[in-house]
Amino acid sequence: GVVVGRRLRSRRKWRRVVGVLRELEESCETPVGRLKQVVDAMAVEMHAGLASEGGSKLKMLLTFVDRLPNGSEIGTYYALDLGGTNFRVLRVQLGGTRSSILSKDVKRQRIPQHLMTSTSEDLFDFITSKLKQFVEQEETVSEAAQSRTRELGFTFSFPVKQISIRSGFLIRWTKGFAIEDMIGCEIIERLQAALMKKGLDMCATVLVNDTVGILALGHYYDADTVAAVKIGTGTNACYMERADAIIKCQGLLTSSGAMVVNMEWGNFWSSHLPRTTYDIEMDMESPNPNDQGFEKMISGMYLGDIFRRVLLRMCEESDVFGPVSSKLLIPFVLEMPLMAAMHEDDTPDLKVVAAILREKLEIQDVPLKARRLVVKVCDVVTRRAARLAAAGIVGILKKIGRDGTGGITGSRSRSDAKMRRTVVAVEGSLYTSYMMFREYLHEALNEILGEDVAQHVVLRTTEDGSCVGAALLAALHSSSSSSSEG
Ligand code: BGC
Repeated sequence: GVVVGRRLRSRRKWRRVVGVLRELEESCETPVGRLKQVVDAMAVEMHAGLASEGGSKLKMLLTFVDRLPNGSEIGTYYALDLGGTNFRVLRVQLGGTRSSILSKDVKRQRIPQHLMTSTSEDLFDFITSKLKQFVEQEETVSEAAQSRTRELGFTFSFPVKQISIRSGFLIRWTKGFAIEDMIGCEIIERLQAALMKKGLDMCATVLVNDTVGILALGHYYDADTVAAVKIGTGTNACYMERADAIIKCQGLLTSSGAMVVNMEWGNFWSSHLPRTTYDIEMDMESPNPNDQGFEKMISGMYLGDIFRRVLLRMCEESDVFGPVSSKLLIPFVLEMPLMAAMHEDDTPDLKVVAAILREKLEIQDVPLKARRLVVKVCDVVTRRAARLAAAGIVGILKKIGRDGTGGITGSRSRSDAKMRRTVVAVEGSLYTSYMMFREYLHEALNEILGEDVAQHVVLRTTEDGSCVGAALLAALHSSSSSSSEG
């Protein structure tokens, strides 16, 4: 009787944790029909965001970038890239003929946590002092002696209201940054003041979002590149839009008749998104509730925390993971790379999962069956993220008439079947370093577009595009404009 009772109890508690998993799977479901609804919603919101200021949760911000590098840029440029977990400084020497980058030096550094919530002065002091050190290491004596002012592209990856290519105001913070005194401020002024304080002779000629840098670098190598996507700590996309489609700026004149639009798709929202109670709770407890809804389902900063919340729920439901670990109560304890490592653990007895649970979350001696459950949770959360990102990408293709259906503007007829090769530049650790994420994204792209159309769509990873691209745009917009094609 005692043995039978124990077995029954054990079976019941397993049923409870499996129940938590099933419920998660159901509420995260993304069948292709639903993804297509997300695609449509994305295209509709893009229209609305372009039609009027505040017309949509999609801000569709102007970038004042009306042409993209083509490989003829020449000279030495710097870039400063602020916006994620790491910040980077870069120097490139551009050869001026057919996309030749003669040399490229990048220094990456993690942003100290306290600077993300301190004052703008502290933050800008920090980044400009790192930039100064970098310049001093990089330059030869004769270069340093030249009187020419150094030119810099500044990548600042937050929602910014730009009034020109070199000026913009911070709308609000995302990704855990929260420096009150910066909101509404002009960014280049702050940077320029900090540079002056450091005595560094440098002029910021362009202010860009990271996605715009990625698009610039993508286009530098491949002229069919029309959009760029970033899926890292945060997520966003930009693309080249016809100037006359940007209705909120009637009469917007650009030399090319087009302009790159920074979508800020992280803030996209639609009732078709498969939202769970975990998402709702995480949003409520985040520093920016009700904002960045799409980003919170997709990007690296948040996936680990959705996972944590599911695991916590499982621990509360039963003791298959032992007593509830106090670590599991800490928001954002589990960072993305560890979640990816558990998901992709290919040891037969899931040793990596066991080690991460033990070392990071202080959950000891988890039986194999429960470790399998952990992998499954990672899979569900990541798969949903990747598939939603794919739907976002198709949304852009649809808006610009490259999804093979003729677009919602109807400007291309269905009979105009010849699909043009379309390249989307992609960066960010989820896409570049998390194989399962990338596979799920590609799979969903194929499902939504169908093989015939998908074969014309190329996702191409660029490297350090957010900063190299900013330097390229600095070259393109340089006052001493030295591009060999002028
Ligand atoms: C920001 C975007 C940025 C994206 C990726 C988002 O949180 O709002 O401006 O491009 O993260 O870094």
